Amino acid sequence: MIVVEDTKLAPPNAAEQMITHLRMDRCPDCQKHSLQPGPRGGSAQNLTCTSCGARWNVAPPRYIMFAQRIG
Ligand SMILES: [Zn+2]
Repeated sequence: MIVVEDTKLAPPNAAEQMITHLRMDRCPDCQKHSLQPGPRGGSAQNLTCTSCGARWNVAPPRYIMFAQRIG
């Protein structure tokens, strides 16, 4: 099961696209490979896009099944 929490309005298939981008180390917002790993808590990890500033909390870090927009 894939879970995506996004406060922005998202089309129905956006969740899987978002996860796919994140899994490929790509920012879902600006599509650039500029995700910077941040603080890690338990099985989750923060990712910050150095290009557009979008921030995500993903879990688990290697094969993402959960993503939450945090900024
Ligand atoms: Zn970005």
